[in-house]
Amino acid sequence: MPDDTHDPERRSWVPGADGHADFPIQNLPVGVFAPAGASRRAGIAIGDHVLDLAGLLAGGLLDGDARLAAEAASGETLNGFLALGPSPRRALRARLSALLTRDAAEERRVEPHLHEAGSVTMHMPARVGDYTDFYAGIHHATNVGKQFRPDSPLLPNYKYVPIGYHGRASSVGVSGAAIRRPNGQRKPASETVPSFGPSRNLDYELELGVWIGPGNELGEPIPIGGAARHIAGFCLLNDWSARDIQGWEYQPLGPFLAKSFATTISPWIVTPEALAPFRLAPSARPDGDPEPLPHLLDAADQTAGGLDIELEVLLLTPGLKETNRPAHRLALSSTRHLYWTVAQMVAHHASGGCNLQPGDLLGTGTISAPGPDGFGSLLETTNGGRKPVELPSGETRRFLEDGDEVILRGRARRDGFTPIGFGECRGTILPARPAA
Ligand code: CA
Repeated sequence: MPDDTHDPERRSWVPGADGHADFPIQNLPVGVFAPAGASRRAGIAIGDHVLDLAGLLAGGLLDGDARLAAEAASGETLNGFLALGPSPRRALRARLSALLTRDAAEERRVEPHLHEAGSVTMHMPARVGDYTDFYAGIHHATNVGKQFRPDSPLLPNYKYVPIGYHGRASSVGVSGAAIRRPNGQRKPASETVPSFGPSRNLDYELELGVWIGPGNELGEPIPIGGAARHIAGFCLLNDWSARDIQGWEYQPLGPFLAKSFATTISPWIVTPEALAPFRLAPSARPDGDPEPLPHLLDAADQTAGGLDIELEVLLLTPGLKETNRPAHRLALSSTRHLYWTVAQMVAHHASGGCNLQPGDLLGTGTISAPGPDGFGSLLETTNGGRKPVELPSGETRRFLEDGDEVILRGRARRDGFTPIGFGECRGTILPARPAA
């Protein structure tokens, strides 16, 4: 439930925080940063600044559960912090909100621990033990299914099982890291045998990332009604995808090298507490769809398990840069288009006994809106490359070219509350290594 940390009247003494598109005082996401020449540590985004949590601790500004939470966040990753669960996280949020509010008595003691965001380097917020990618964006699943099965795009399991696959954790990187175009086996329909070389159909996928909190013991499922306490936060996630490699390799076991070369996430973990005002009922299932099986059905989740986050994909090409044009919006979508809630994904994941661990990362799957202005991948936007996108620079794109930069943004807004955002998730394509 929203509390006084969400009060839209609350103002901060930090310059630029009030009215900041992503990080007003009502957000307070946590991440890992390094000041120039210094080691990694936990920080809080506030406006265009990053607040050093270790500095607050050393300065004696945190007590009780807030202190416990900051201590768990000390070190170079936030896995210990993610493991804590909601209560200490909430205490830290309340204390930070008080310290950063205009006219706070501690302002002069807090101020030395602020760094300008432009002067620090953001790092992976946690060590990702396992990464799982779902397929819960129903319009994406339908659009992709249509390319193979025009008459029955969704397979019969889709409305019963939150479909997913185990992704690769080692290649998850943080926004800003360059993406090397992968080499792989490609076999278009026009060729009789595959060849090895650079992917010709490199794509992005617009997804929401989910950070796992405490997790479960091996063999102990997480009941749907208790899933929320295992969700420690959210980020933007780009599941880079090499469609030509994927088309050749994916049967019968699913994606492998087409996905494992890179995944990019935004560096800030937006907490469930910050998103409390932006919960809503999941989108109603169309008439005739089955009710979720009992282990995926929970009254509270059906009332407020959905999320209202606007998601955006932008493309910045070499041609747009050369002609001083801004990044071009390719899609505007929303987490309202998820068929399964995040709690259902967590409960399903653990329902067979698989243990989730603090710092595990889930992707929701590509989140497309119903119409072409909201498609979350080029596979959909260009209809598999057959209908190229035209850009204001005169360039066209079937799929991504070298030098292209993909930018994801996310924003939550609701009448009566201060909008909050996720920051950016960016990645630029580098040419493939020579294919020996
Ligand atoms: Ca995906």
